[in-house]
Amino acid sequence: KPRLYSGMQPSADSLQIGNYIGALMQWRDLQEAYEAFFSVVDLHALTQPNDPAELRAKTRRTAAQYIAAGIEPSKSTLYVQSHVPAHAELAWILSTITGFGEAGRMTQFKDKSQRYGADATSVGLFTYPVLMAADILLYQTDIVPVGDDQKQHVELTRDLAERFNSRYGETFRVPMPVIQQETARIYDLQNPTAKMSKSAESDAGVLWLLDDPAVSAKKIMRAVTDSEGTVRYDREAKPGVSNLLVIYAALTGRQIPAIEDEYAGRGYGDFKKGLAEVVVNEFGPVRSRALELLDDPAELDRVLAANAARAEAVANATLDDVYDRAGLLRRV
Ligand code: ATP
Ligand code: MG
Repeated sequence: KPRLYSGMQPSADSLQIGNYIGALMQWRDLQEAYEAFFSVVDLHALTQPNDPAELRAKTRRTAAQYIAAGIEPSKSTLYVQSHVPAHAELAWILSTITGFGEAGRMTQFKDKSQRYGADATSVGLFTYPVLMAADILLYQTDIVPVGDDQKQHVELTRDLAERFNSRYGETFRVPMPVIQQETARIYDLQNPTAKMSKSAESDAGVLWLLDDPAVSAKKIMRAVTDSEGTVRYDREAKPGVSNLLVIYAALTGRQIPAIEDEYAGRGYGDFKKGLAEVVVNEFGPVRSRALELLDDPAELDRVLAANAARAEAVANATLDDVYDRAGLLRRV
């Protein structure tokens, strides 16, 4: 089977609907045809300020949500990044072949460093994409299903793989990003031209997977729209309504024109009520399953440990090869 790698940061107590639609739904479908590795990338989450105990809790919660959303740890390898030391080790090697200017062109770094300010912007935030390249390349990955915001990082990963291969000999498989065009970017409900993010400053426009159903419904009813009053897809003129239509279509598997027809001549209130029902129905079972899994953290930890062992076997084989080719003297 071809290989698949993807991951999410444990940067909040809950995942948001963009993570679900842009990534998790694809993961669930692809795990049958691919040998899949799904990581909770806790080393990446250290690039923003964290309380240690909270980070541990968020890491378990993220893993529980993967499983609750349908990732099966018996089929796919679902593990915590820091449990496999090879990630940090390969990141160092790759950092030595990454250009300073090349890393400086990454838009996520520019966005996040601007948001954090100079004092909170670490070297780790700068080298984040190099660690991500290591994540992917360790598993000799064929495809990387991600949202649109990660496309640039996967392009960098490809460049680094090709550079290493041409400098030291064929070592890495060169991965392809897989981005579902229509759902590649879900926007904040209060600010529908900005990407919805776990680490948004305000969560008024963020739909959390683990939100109480009443809270999700309220956020949808309050979503920013426009004064036209027609349920119609138009990204430029109607970013708010278009975003809601994309969410509606993604969760129901229906086409946008069919949804427009259903709500023709009806107001935004009706449309939002319909969407709230769709979202609550979709999230309900995921939420209760996640909370159930979190009731037994010891069992969850056992699953993660067993999966980390599987991941490590693959990762260490690649790392060994890399060290050897790069000219590091191997310990006998
Ligand atoms: P953070 O704010 O901490 O960066 P995030 O919500 O951006 O959190 P990540 O952990 O960085 O989430 O990304 C996890 C996956 O979710 C990636 O594949 C990313 O492309 C995807 N993703 C994140 N936000 C969205 C979104 N708004 N729409 C579609 N996909 C998204
Ligand atoms: Mg992100």
